[in-house]
Amino acid sequence: MLRFGPAPHPHALLATSRFLADEISVRLAHRHAELESLPYGLHATQEAKVVRAWYKASFDELTGFYDDLARHWADAERAPEWTRPWWQRLLQSAATRTKSKYDEELEEQQGQEIALPRGLAATSALAMGSSQSPLPMTYSPDTSLHDASLHNERYYNTQNHHPPLPTHMLSAVPHYNKKFTTLLSSIVERHNPVVVTVSQNLPRLLPSSHPQHHPEVQAFLNRFHANRVGVRILIGHHLALSNPQARRFPNHIGIVCTQTDTIAVAQEAAADASEICEQNFDGVAPPVNIAVNSDTANSSCELVYIPSHMHHILFELLKNSMRATMMKYYPHIAPGADGDSNGSTITTASPFSASSATPISPPPVTITITPTPTQITIRVSDTGCGIPRAQLANVMTYAYTTASGKTPAQNQPPQFTGSELEAPMAGFGYGLPLSKLYARYFKGDLAISSVHGVGTDVDLVLRRDWATMSEQVSM
Ligand code: ATP
Ligand code: MG
Repeated sequence: MLRFGPAPHPHALLATSRFLADEISVRLAHRHAELESLPYGLHATQEAKVVRAWYKASFDELTGFYDDLARHWADAERAPEWTRPWWQRLLQSAATRTKSKYDEELEEQQGQEIALPRGLAATSALAMGSSQSPLPMTYSPDTSLHDASLHNERYYNTQNHHPPLPTHMLSAVPHYNKKFTTLLSSIVERHNPVVVTVSQNLPRLLPSSHPQHHPEVQAFLNRFHANRVGVRILIGHHLALSNPQARRFPNHIGIVCTQTDTIAVAQEAAADASEICEQNFDGVAPPVNIAVNSDTANSSCELVYIPSHMHHILFELLKNSMRATMMKYYPHIAPGADGDSNGSTITTASPFSASSATPISPPPVTITITPTPTQITIRVSDTGCGIPRAQLANVMTYAYTTASGKTPAQNQPPQFTGSELEAPMAGFGYGLPLSKLYARYFKGDLAISSVHGVGTDVDLVLRRDWATMSEQVSM
């Protein structure tokens, strides 16, 4: 992602867009096939059908884009005859190429007793209009993020696989790229309600009201969200690279910041989480102390990262810690004041009460940043209610929450739109699993340890060798 540089050459943008049209089509097709394979009859629900239709529409638009473009450029007035071979090679139909390429691989594998990579069969099925999905649904949480070798290096290297653009045609690229980025933006917009539709409605339709009891659904949601994050990163990066205005931000290449300041991001996430906490707890929020581990203070707290991802993760962790702190010490001012649904709220040990004249001053949440030459660990610690041992395994599963009492704001999607301030304090059960997914996407990690009644530590590990790694997502 970094090798494009802050102001990519038009040829790079053109060739990359060609790659993205293929790559995103494959990923969309794969999700479409998975939605057809949902267990418990979920595939036949209205929600699944609606979301599938969005995926199909975006797939069709992307695969058709190069056909339209090829026709456009093949017009003799726009592109002289002698340039056609160049365009034909660059702009050959994505649909045809995608289908034939993957069908070839499918044929090669026929007769061999090996499992088909997920993307291949899915793309073939959708490109051919088949309604049958050949994909099995198995629960394999440890393997769902490990197929990076499939697309290692393809993103940037795609630039080198095409002939150089004739100089006199370079001026046409912005026009073409504008059309492509408009298409990408409209796809992003179409898919905005996907998280709510899939994540909120599908688990509700399950036979049991606890989605964490359905490993197939958890595996599906993990793959689904990982893929969604991946597609959004690819699209977001291309849009940012294509937007000359975005280049006014220093140290940014597309959506990546080469010197992401963990302290500054933590401060911003703390301010945003405090605001939400104050909205939910009568104007009160625990203070946030940020400290850099002095043993390793010689290492820089800056690293190459996507700042918005880091902010999202820290924001979620801080909301959780603030809520746990408030629920322990000031349960009487909690929203609904009805405590947690699994009894994890500790009220008996509370030094304060509704009738107490003691001013409200909750203990702090602490962020400790430990930079080393290879990674940066950010620990968010609280002395809140903690998590009962029996529930610890559930907190990283999708849709597990102990928050009760829905508010209208909880109808908002738990997604990453840059408008976190509208989000509620808790209630979706997506904060931790999605944060872990974001962390693992670039080989980092998120680990939680908690003692019921004492408090909770969450360690976010971010690797410094970001620039040389590839995304950790299966097709
Ligand atoms: P949202 O998706 O809106 O964040 P949520 O906070 O309920 O909703 P998660 O952030 O995934 O969802 O957390 C799941 C559950 O884990 C919480 O409901 C809470 O019971 C428990 N939990 C998470 N962090 C903490 C913490 N720091 N202290 C105590 N319990 C916690
Ligand atoms: Mg949360």
